[in-house]
Amino acid sequence: MTTSFHISVLPGDGIGNEVMPSALAVLEKIGQSINRRFHFEQHVAGAQHYADHGVALTDKVLTDCEKADAILFGAMGLPHVRGADGTEIIPQLDLRFRFDLYAGVRPIRTFKGLPTPLAHPRASEIDFVLVRESTEGLFYARGRGEAHGDEAVIDPMKITRAGTERVCEFAFQLAQQREATKGRPGRVTNVDKANVFASMAFWRKIFEETAAKHPSMAVDSAYVDAMALNLVMKPWAYDVLVTENMFGDILSDLIAALVGGMGMAPSGDIGDKHALFQPAHGTAPDIVGQGKANPTAMILSAAMMLDWLGAKHGDSALMDGARAIEAAVEHAFAQGQVRPFEFGGTSGTAQVTQAVLSHLKTHKNQGAPA
Ligand code: ATP
Repeated sequence: MTTSFHISVLPGDGIGNEVMPSALAVLEKIGQSINRRFHFEQHVAGAQHYADHGVALTDKVLTDCEKADAILFGAMGLPHVRGADGTEIIPQLDLRFRFDLYAGVRPIRTFKGLPTPLAHPRASEIDFVLVRESTEGLFYARGRGEAHGDEAVIDPMKITRAGTERVCEFAFQLAQQREATKGRPGRVTNVDKANVFASMAFWRKIFEETAAKHPSMAVDSAYVDAMALNLVMKPWAYDVLVTENMFGDILSDLIAALVGGMGMAPSGDIGDKHALFQPAHGTAPDIVGQGKANPTAMILSAAMMLDWLGAKHGDSALMDGARAIEAAVEHAFAQGQVRPFEFGGTSGTAQVTQAVLSHLKTHKNQGAPA
């Protein structure tokens, strides 16, 4: 049984550097209590590295990521650092394509003790996962936009059978796992625009073929514009959503807003061999250096990493660690004394981290707060 794990750590730019130490401290501490060791290999990489040295991710970094058991990623990109075509330096996209991280998993839920922007009483029940296809779709166009003089640019959208099948299958597996752990019926909701685009009609056909292999799972489909409405009107009604890359990119930010902000939204970019875990937020240049960044998304991303490693290695201790981190986050916020800046509070990165760490000690292996 493996008890020591090599984690490639890329804090990146902006607040990525501020929230990463929080996750490492939490992992260090939980590692001791579950008797697992994490060897963190930290790397300097990202848009600032590109500005300084002409490369965002060196070969050394990529080789370490390739060898690692998992990758922990902060955030990368700076608005003023751009490539020749005017687009931002976004190395996380390169990593997704290079390591074939096809399933962008974005769980979203409310936490007791924190306000939600939605006034509806059922807002406290929000608990679903968005699965974003992350290797094709409209993002296939990156670097392929075809300019027609100075008059037009055409960006191609690519949907393949294999790419769609694997991400839809991933969504069904996830819904089955959630059904088992949450003790309630699962559901997979497909989000597309099959009424307009041939590529999206093809996507829906593949989704329906995949659904036919899981006859006991409830399924439905919605157009992305209607889903934008429904996610605000009744987000508590969803379980697992699966969608194309660009739609998933946009809906990710919308769903983070439903529970108070980007600092609450963890994510995992998962492939069959490799996986990368990062907060759903970017580098937040507007708050960098002020100690205001909410580290919760980064900490919960570390918990997702433990779940993934636990499933991969058949190691329930790692999964126990993930549950303990989630419980510590729940307890940290439950009494309403710790409130991050993005919720209008005054708890900065250090205070939130400290609260989670202290509950990791006091409440380890206990249930959710009453
Ligand atoms: P990207 O395009 O890389 O996703 P972005 O510039 O669109 O990045 P973010 O960097 O995620 O978006 O920032 C969006 C808003 O959310 C900003 O106002 C930022 O301050 C806020 N924000 C993002 N992450 C956090 C966090 N961890 N804590 C507090 N506020 C955050």
